[in-house]
Amino acid sequence: MLASALHLVVRPVGEPKDSDFELRPIAHGALVDEQARVRVHYVSVDPAMRIWMTEQKSYWPPVALDEIMRAGGIGEVIESKNARLPVGTWVSGMTGVAEALVTDGRGLRTFDVSALPDPTYALHIFGATGLTAYFGLKEIGMVKAGETVVVSAAAGAVGSTVVQLAKAWGCRVIGIAGGPDKCAYVHQNLGADEVIDYKNENVAEALSRHCPRGIDVYFDNVGGQILDAALRHLGLRARVVVCGGISEYNATVDAQGLKNYLSLISARARMEGFVVIDYLHRIEEAIAAMAPLLRSGQLKSKIDVVSGIANFPEALRRLLAGRNQGKQVLKLV
Ligand code: NDP
Repeated sequence: MLASALHLVVRPVGEPKDSDFELRPIAHGALVDEQARVRVHYVSVDPAMRIWMTEQKSYWPPVALDEIMRAGGIGEVIESKNARLPVGTWVSGMTGVAEALVTDGRGLRTFDVSALPDPTYALHIFGATGLTAYFGLKEIGMVKAGETVVVSAAAGAVGSTVVQLAKAWGCRVIGIAGGPDKCAYVHQNLGADEVIDYKNENVAEALSRHCPRGIDVYFDNVGGQILDAALRHLGLRARVVVCGGISEYNATVDAQGLKNYLSLISARARMEGFVVIDYLHRIEEAIAAMAPLLRSGQLKSKIDVVSGIANFPEALRRLLAGRNQGKQVLKLV
């Protein structure tokens, strides 16, 4: 099989450019015992990729120059000398931005594609995105029915799942998103009680209007000024879930400091970061909790597809600029 992989060749400055990557043929030979060949169908496009491209210290080392760009993906075994991975098995894991890979199965999870409405569910609701929303809200947010939950990037992959889970768990939910279309989607399709269009409204004023008794859980996907505005409106014993800070990922100057962090003192609040990989061993628990919500229609998945491996840089730019409508994936087959 002729296949290609996308290599990082230049560390991007600001928005990633096409020329920061190079498409190269994959030189896989014949399989040896215990190996299987996987055809990668979809790759997940994630904001964190922008951090992995820098030399910044993170929970994973930077992607080295010339290395295949790191990515989660799903695919199907097309040739096998591994009894645990017969032809036709679907797998998910860190495939890289590559059309094919040869594996002994370590680090990959198998899943039953016929049980899903679409294979991409294994990247979204039942993948890292769903786990991030589920464990962030449950373990870090310690959310309870009746509480007021505010979530930023509410129309995005993680945010839209947070909105729907918090509603299903009996919370009052305020979603923050950019532009009238995304806000209408968060309100009408996802069921948020209130929405704030951060591109056209004063977020701090809107939060004081919508959260007169303060925020109980703020699920932060964006950092920066929106996080600062939320800090001003924390209720007593609020929890701030630090999931991501996408407003800073393309920045070429140092992040701006928070002005309102002292609110944590008067609110006796807690602010805690987390990384989804620490919860991967509990994936079955999250799937078991979310599957009934999917069946009842309380949880919906929306996928934004860009096709073709060469279009990975455009898919990433699209995500970082907020042009995505739902979970951004790259379709390779
Ligand atoms: P999304 O699908 O939410 O896409 C990103 C969205 O961020 C865009 O659609 C855009 O929405 C919004 N955005 C972009 N720039 C800004 C800005 N300057 N200010 C406010 N909003 C902005 O991506 P994901 O759901 O994949 O990721 C969401 C967040 O979760 C990211 O920060 C990511 O790093 C984090 N994350 C963290 C994990 C963890 O383990 N801690 C795991 C997975 C994700 P809009 O049009 O509304 O501006």
